[in-house]
Parts: sequence; C-alpha cells; structure tokens
Amino acid sequence: MMKSRIFKIITLIFILILISIFVIFAYRQLRNILKFPVSDKTTSETSIETTSSEGETTETDREADSIEESREIKEFFKDRESLKNILNEYTVQVKFFPEDMQLECKLQLEYTNFEDDKLDKLYFHLYPRAYDEYSDDSFKIITDLTGKDLNELDIVPGKMEITKLLVDGIEINYKIEQTLCEIDLEKPINPDEILEITIEFYQNIPKNADRYGYYKDVVSLGNWSPILAVYDDDGWHKDPFLPIGDPFYSDSSIYEVEISLPENYVLASTGELINTKKIDDYLTYTYEAYPVRDFAIMFSKEYGVLEDNCHDINIYSFLIGEDLEKNKNSLNFAKDAIDIFSELFGKYPYQNYTIAQNFMNFGGMEYPQLCQIKYADYNDKKISCYRNEYVIAHETAHQWWYSVVGNDEINQPWLDEAFAEYSTYQYFINKYSEEERENIFSTMHRKPRSIEVPPKVMSKTIRDYEDFGEYGAEIYKGGSELLFKLEDHLGKEVMYEILRRYYEEYKFENADITGFIDICEEVSEKDLSEFFSPYFDN
Ligand SMILES: [Zn+2]
Repeated sequence: MMKSRIFKIITLIFILILISIFVIFAYRQLRNILKFPVSDKTTSETSIETTSSEGETTETDREADSIEESREIKEFFKDRESLKNILNEYTVQVKFFPEDMQLECKLQLEYTNFEDDKLDKLYFHLYPRAYDEYSDDSFKIITDLTGKDLNELDIVPGKMEITKLLVDGIEINYKIEQTLCEIDLEKPINPDEILEITIEFYQNIPKNADRYGYYKDVVSLGNWSPILAVYDDDGWHKDPFLPIGDPFYSDSSIYEVEISLPENYVLASTGELINTKKIDDYLTYTYEAYPVRDFAIMFSKEYGVLEDNCHDINIYSFLIGEDLEKNKNSLNFAKDAIDIFSELFGKYPYQNYTIAQNFMNFGGMEYPQLCQIKYADYNDKKISCYRNEYVIAHETAHQWWYSVVGNDEINQPWLDEAFAEYSTYQYFINKYSEEERENIFSTMHRKPRSIEVPPKVMSKTIRDYEDFGEYGAEIYKGGSELLFKLEDHLGKEVMYEILRRYYEEYKFENADITGFIDICEEVSEKDLSEFFSPYFDN
C-alpha cells in the first residue's frame, strides 16, 4: 500500500516535470515567433555556395537564392497583426492645400507600453516647429551651409499647431516647449497596457531648401509628423531639434498613411501603396510600411519617374523636368548601391526603394525606403564627376545604418554617419576597384586622403559641434577613417562579417556603440579595448 502510494507520488512528480518542460518550451517558441526574425547566417551562406549541375556556382543561382531569401524576409513582415504585438502603430491622414501650402492632418497612435516601467507621461517630437520662427537659430543649417545671412535667403517660416489632442477619446493636458510635446497621463500606463492617442494638427509648410519645406517645384516632408520620443534604459529622450547633423532618434513602428493631393501632383513616399481613391479633384493614396522608424513624403507637379528592379526590389528615381534625362544614371547608382550593400551587409528588407530629387542646400537626406537627393550641376567645374553617385551611395547606405539598424543620432552620431560614409567607400571599392579608392577620394575632396581620426570621436555628440563643417570633418571623414583602421587591424573579411552580424542582430532595433564593440570582439575573437580606447571616453 505504502509502496503503491510512493509510486503514485513519483509518477505525479514526473508528470509535473514533463508539463513544466513543455510549458517552458512552448513559451520560448512563442517568444521566438513574436521576436524579429534573425535570419540564419549559416543557411544563407550555404545557399550562396550551392553549386549548379556543372559543379559551379552561377550568377543565376546566386540571384535566385538572393530573391528567395529576400522573399522569406518579406513574408514575415507581411504579418502586420503579429507585428502589433511588438510595435506601435501610427495611422495618419494628411491633406495638402496648395493655395496656402498647408497640410491638414490627423494622427492616431495605438500606443502599447512595451517598457517594463509604469509611465505617467508620453512625449512627442514636433520637429516642424523648428521652422516656425524666422530666426538664425531655426534656419542655422541653411545659413551655415550657404554661408549667407538669413535675409539673403529665400525663406518663409512655417507654422505647426495642434488643434486637438485626445487620449482614449478624452481631451487631456499637454504642454509644448520648442519641438517637444509633453502629455500628462491622468492615469499612469502600466506595462503592456494600450492607449489610443489622437492628434489633430495643421502645418503651414515653410519655404525652405531643407528636409522639410517647399522649394522650387518640390514639397519635401521629412520629419513632418509628430513622432513618439524613445524611452530606453536612460528614460525618455527629450532632445529638441538641433540645427547640426541629423538630430533624430526613433523606434521602428507600423505606419498606415493616407495622403490626399490634388490629382496633378506626383507622389513619392515611404511604404507600399495599398489603395487609391479619387474624390473630386483630389487623389487619396493609402500607404502602409512596417517596420519603419519614420515615414517621409515628397511630391511635385513636375516629377517624372524612372524605375527598375534589383533582387525583386522596385527601385524608383523621381526627377524634375529636364533632369530626368540629364540624371537618368541616378537609377543605376541606386540599383548598384542596393545590390552592393545587400551583398556586403545583408538583404534590403523592403519591397520598394525610392530616391527623389529636391533642391535642399545639402547633398541628401535619408528616410526609410525614401531618400531626398539634391543633384549637382556638372557645369560647375569644381564638382567631381563622382559627386551624384557619391551622394546616392551615401544616402542608400543609410538604409542599413539608420533605417534598419537605428541608433541615437544625437548622442552617438558616429554609429550613423561614419558607417554610412565607410559604406560609401565600400560601394566604390566594390564597384570600381581598391586602387580607385584614393583616386575617387582625391577627386571628390580635391585633396589626397590623409585624415587623422579625431580623439574620442566615438563619444562625441552632435551638441559638441558648432557647425556642419567641423561636424562633417570629424564624424563623417574622421569617423569613417576609424572604421578603415579597424578593417586594417582585423582584415577585410572579418570586418564584413562584423557588419553582417551587427546588421542581423540590430535589425529594426536601436543599436549602441557598446553593442557594436561587443560584436567586434566576438567575431574577431580579440580583446579590442586597447584599439578603441583612444576614440572612446570609457
Ligand atoms: Zn549621412
């Protein structure tokens, strides 16, 4: 009797252990399904090495494998509903009124508190407000880059105003300081709790040759819509707009954006077009995009469009009037850049990539799936023949280092611009030759490549710089030179392996410098503290 009871107890314990193992296993599987997929590097390498029946890897095999791989990545991201378990979702409507150069907008954010902390406030960046004032501070980028005074420039300030702000349908207290909106939640939001934020606002678009503004025939809407500040281990990132570098930091999200334009305008946008409808003289386009860390829009009555395809990705180049013929090679530059970077760092994960011309006072600006490009006039003898190719390669490199792998661009700009600049040289080295590198550099910059890496460059923030010239010299040039030094130290193949691992590990996440150094040490199996210490504060 006693023996039988002991046997029963042992059997019961055994069954309980089995159930626990099953529950833990099921939980891990579920977590993996909900987490961003990390494609299996070994699998992809094997598939690239697959041989044809003649025993040789053919170009066609590689192309087929790469299309297959990029389809697999895209299949996962088609599941918008699953992504809602890990990402916030913005739904935005925007209507453009050309007579007043005004936008009427409504944003709804289904906000889930994915943090471990209870939050009593939420913060949104309202970057267009940087251009509301006619002041040297607001338009410093342009005065810096052109060397002109404000009154010599063709500028009209804009205006952004919130007309209604609701949380779960109820009007709530908020305050705006510079470009930051602080929302006081009446009841703090617990982890995993969901809130519906509604912001109605209008914008008078500034006349301004910049990322955000209209100039000549193009309306550029970069950083135009309210965007949630990042909350991480350091708390909320509340940095205001700064007129140096790219003062942005955001989380990957889901976007659905409805854009209404008079029907004679041609539209370039982040995302994939899912619906078009016509009401009176307006066309309304609905785009969706996910995961993306921002959503940019450009439009013009004068745009013509060139298109091509690369690894099953649609590539578009939007150009104005006679520039369509003059700069038709822009499409090939974009296509080559997508091809080269996909091969070197990992597949471009979206269906579309667009470069669109505007008339900003600097070379270009990156947004997810869409880059603004200012074309140089080659009649100006000081312009290098590589200049447009260089800008397109640089902005396209940001699809890897900014759009997919994000980072805090205010406090760690090295991770953003130095990586894009280093990748731009990789584009030229891989497209032309290693020997051409010096030649291209000296043609581009009209001097031989002799750059010192600035001390502590990895710890510099954009606040450490007075103007774009100093920032460019240190972060772009000096910063990328440090990556070449690392390449010399570890070897090219190890360097590429590091960047591939970094891309995979931080895909759609935000990376930081410590994370990058950890990957360098893991992949190279070396202690690199001595190598990095002169360029890093601690
Ligand atoms: Zn850049």
